[in-house]
Amino acid sequence: MEHLKREDPRLADLIEKESRRIENTLDLIAAENHPPAPVLEVLGSILTIKTIEGYPGRRFHGGCRHADAVERLAVERACRLFGAEHANVQPHSGTSANLAVYFSVLETGDRILSMHLPHGGHLSHGHPASATSRCFRFAHYPVDRKTERIDYDTVRELANDFRPRLLVAGASAYPRLIDYAAMADIARGVGAYLMVDMAHIAGLVAAGVIPSPVEHSDFVTFTCYKTLMGGRGGVVLCRKRFAGDLDRAVFPGTQGTSPVSAIAAKAFIFHHATRAPFVEIQERTLSNARTLSETLAGAGWRIVTGGTENHQVLLDASTGGLTGADAEQRLESVGIITNRNAIPADAGVPGAASGLRLGTAAMAARGMGPEEAARIGVLVDEALRGADREDVRGRVSSEIRSLCLSYPVYGGGPP
Ligand SMILES: *Cc1c(COP(=O)(O)O)cnc(C)c1O
Repeated sequence: MEHLKREDPRLADLIEKESRRIENTLDLIAAENHPPAPVLEVLGSILTIKTIEGYPGRRFHGGCRHADAVERLAVERACRLFGAEHANVQPHSGTSANLAVYFSVLETGDRILSMHLPHGGHLSHGHPASATSRCFRFAHYPVDRKTERIDYDTVRELANDFRPRLLVAGASAYPRLIDYAAMADIARGVGAYLMVDMAHIAGLVAAGVIPSPVEHSDFVTFTCYKTLMGGRGGVVLCRKRFAGDLDRAVFPGTQGTSPVSAIAAKAFIFHHATRAPFVEIQERTLSNARTLSETLAGAGWRIVTGGTENHQVLLDASTGGLTGADAEQRLESVGIITNRNAIPADAGVPGAASGLRLGTAAMAARGMGPEEAARIGVLVDEALRGADREDVRGRVSSEIRSLCLSYPVYGGGPP
């Protein structure tokens, strides 16, 4: 960063402060992670300069020899890692990946059935504020009021009524496994395509520690920066017969040039994900989530769905008389970074978020295991209940800080 420091000390200072924030706070945001250092090197590399349009061997600019090799490598590794027939590694984000799938096989105005957003779905699954809902007609399936889990009979009934051309499975806030075979069967029954959005869980799937949707789905989309531990950006996997339609829907359909540095970071993480240390982190992510969930439940907090089968723990903050926003703020004041989230119990109250979504991927990435997860569960409970007491806040924040110092993310700062 010596050039930046010289030319723009103000910006360099903000980057340094952010780096210290990451080292000194505990990241429990389920949608974040600490990527391995090579990811940051690749993202900041010279590859970002090249403009590419089109696909390897069919570009609209010269000088693409190395860019082509990078993209081919990313595609080949994505297909091998996930057992997919085709991969498009150009989407800028998960939202772009989803948009490209919609435009690849649907006409505007076509029907899509996806998960109800306050029950765990994503903005790009047809939220009224998302462009997706202006291009396609969405209906949403709820989770069961009692179990707070997907009820596949309900999904089937809705599919039979609504007759979607695309069924979307996958969520932003759902701590349970999804039965992809059941979803595929429902889609088949109404002649719909099945798209699984595995944005949150792609790392767990890559490591083989939870089931993969790939064999059941026509399309699988994901982002690389959540459990997968890569850089920013999205990917679409699909069956060979959709490859041409999908590639055209990404470029030129919904995007222009894609940054080669981001494609290269995807190539790196697809390779890294086959190695033992990555798999071990994903295993620890799962066991940490179970431990965190049990500790918080033991302390009297209601856990949505009663537990977890992935990296997420959804806590009902109202059990302690708090809103999700209160809970988020109380934890941030002691150095624990989380986000408030709607939970199924909020249904019908627009904008309500009584939940707190916790994720264990980033803590596992910095080396923490179940012992730390149990301790963190205790500290979260203490901070939530005692944040208005100076002594509690002081004690919890100093313990969080020393935990973080014992598990540095990048040691002396990012490369
Ligand atoms: C995070 C997420 C995305 C991706 O969002 P971007 O911000 O566009 O990268 C897509 N779908 C789901 C279910 C997600 O959780």
